[in-house]
Amino acid sequence: MIIIMLGAQGTGKGTVAGMISTATGLPQISTGDIFRKNISEKTPLGIEADKYISKGDLVPDEVTVPMVEDRLTWEDAKNGAILDGFPRTIEQAEKLDEILSKKGEKVDLVVNLVTPREELIDRMLTRRVCTNQECKATYNTKLNPPKQEGICDKCGAPLKQRADDSDPEAIKRRLEIYEEKTSPLVDYYDKKGVLKTETVSLSINRMGKDVAEDVINLLKEKNK
Ligand code: AMP
Repeated sequence: MIIIMLGAQGTGKGTVAGMISTATGLPQISTGDIFRKNISEKTPLGIEADKYISKGDLVPDEVTVPMVEDRLTWEDAKNGAILDGFPRTIEQAEKLDEILSKKGEKVDLVVNLVTPREELIDRMLTRRVCTNQECKATYNTKLNPPKQEGICDKCGAPLKQRADDSDPEAIKRRLEIYEEKTSPLVDYYDKKGVLKTETVSLSINRMGKDVAEDVINLLKEKNK
């Protein structure tokens, strides 16, 4: 089963994907996390990706698509995966369809998270991530603070702010790119009949964990 998390930066895609991953056993494949791990390890891929990520731009498809194609061949993805941050453009979605169809697979479900813009910016500014690349837990200083400030509850490593979350220009650029390049995917997947749109917002007291519960129940129904 291939599940895609869609939604602007800061909607909580990673959080929801993590909960679905725990419930289903499907791996969460986050292109952003793979890039950040490579950046921290200063690999050639990380050095190349950082040129784009630090500005809030998309990493070119020549780098991103083969990386995802390879990751989908890993043993843990033999029953499928939850893609978090990929595809981000129509071209990437078409390439993903090709990659999957070669294996007789397809996109089964697209969870589209929608959050008001003012909340998105605030969520990015208050997001903190665990510096331990094996843990990668995410917190929010307002909505989901760690028990001890600056320290990960799960593994005890220090928390930090993502470089692209602390730069207002990079935040603006990422939201512009989302509107221009990624939001057309909503229509793309709606036409395929696999889209499930969910609002995540403080204004209606509906958070990522509520959406994750809904999706997990939906998957249980499908598997009956
Ligand atoms: P994320 O953690 O999903 O917000 O991704 C962080 C950054 O990684 C993005 O702002 C992009 O620069 C880059 N990135 C992540 N996924 C992709 C993708 N599918 N295509 C191109 N760039 C990506």
